[in-house]
Amino acid sequence: MHRDTLLIHAGRESAPAVHAVSPPLVRTSTTVFDTLAAYQQAQAGTVFDAPRYGRSGTATTFELQRAMASLARTETCIATSCGLSAITAVLGAHAGPGRHILISAGVYGPTRSFCEQDLVPGGTHVEVVPHGADVSLLLRDDTSLVFIETPASLTMEMIDVRAVCAAALGRGVPVACDSTWGTPLYFDAHALGIDISIHAATKFINGHSDLLLGLITGKAQALSAIRAYCDRGGTHAAPDACWLTLRGLRTLAVRLARHQQSALTVARWLQTQPRVLRVRFPALETDPGHALWTSQFSGAAGPFTVEIAPCSEAAFAAFIDGLQLFSLGTSWGGFESLVMPALPHHQRALATPADAPRRVRLHIGLEDAQDLCNDLQSAMAAMTTVTLRGER
Ligand SMILES: *Cc1c(COP(=O)(O)O)cnc(C)c1O
Repeated sequence: MHRDTLLIHAGRESAPAVHAVSPPLVRTSTTVFDTLAAYQQAQAGTVFDAPRYGRSGTATTFELQRAMASLARTETCIATSCGLSAITAVLGAHAGPGRHILISAGVYGPTRSFCEQDLVPGGTHVEVVPHGADVSLLLRDDTSLVFIETPASLTMEMIDVRAVCAAALGRGVPVACDSTWGTPLYFDAHALGIDISIHAATKFINGHSDLLLGLITGKAQALSAIRAYCDRGGTHAAPDACWLTLRGLRTLAVRLARHQQSALTVARWLQTQPRVLRVRFPALETDPGHALWTSQFSGAAGPFTVEIAPCSEAAFAAFIDGLQLFSLGTSWGGFESLVMPALPHHQRALATPADAPRRVRLHIGLEDAQDLCNDLQSAMAAMTTVTLRGER
């Protein structure tokens, strides 16, 4: 079945029993059983998508997990409280004294902070792999995980996923990937060789900026230690978030197609603007990562990063504050357009030097693309006004 069809029909097994189109929302802390035998069987935890206790999920959680596993064309899925807890569960389950974890240089900032501030003091040897480095030379006998993210957050650099997976497979090391940007629709992580694929469903998958949710997909064997780690740590998702995400999932394909079309329109228009130095978006033919993107992704809905010519703080503020349709905020993947200064995590506390390009990350929402270009144009005009007035 095509993924577009799965999006509509997966995760609705419990709907017919209540004569509804959508599955019922089941909220519970306590799970109750008819017999002692049924209780004992459930507590053994051998069937992961069976009710045991509220923390490990309700029928609603299991609907979403099954739908997501089928979309990702793999066996199982674990839903967690947010994208970051999905990441820390994957890392935490593979960490420990004497273990070595490789992470790609461009990972989401909080991913790197967790490694530096929690894993390293706990005795895990975390090594950051520069972009373009040969992973096969860095794998060791004690390597327990290779963790990548593609494209890299903010810098948008691409990774040769097939090469990383082949090298790791040769040494029996699992590969985990933060696949949030691609979603299972545009990035077929498991087909490329990734064992553990992580999604902040907070972004495109839910698509409505009204909840946080993490999803981890992979074969049952690849996820078993992570599932146990989640059971011990209590990182599981709330049924309400799962229910809303199931609802968001139904329109994922049509939303992504529109996000993609508009993101390309706006990105190409930005490339013609005198104040724009560069647009970092692998879907653009001019992007250095374009060839890798073409060989690994079947689409790109954004977000992307824009480099603006060096300017004063006042001019930069005039640009951001001058935008009417782009709200200023972190996160992305919702129906609304967003802008955010794109500073790498470790530089956020520092002032931008006057001669450095300014970077912004844009998420192109479902508004009309021409309206978005017009909005960007008038914000750039506001910048020029400030510059001419000589304000600093
Ligand atoms: C947002 C994001 C996360 C974290 O997701 P939350 O649900 O906000 O915790 C992880 N990885 C990437 C690439 C993200 O963009």
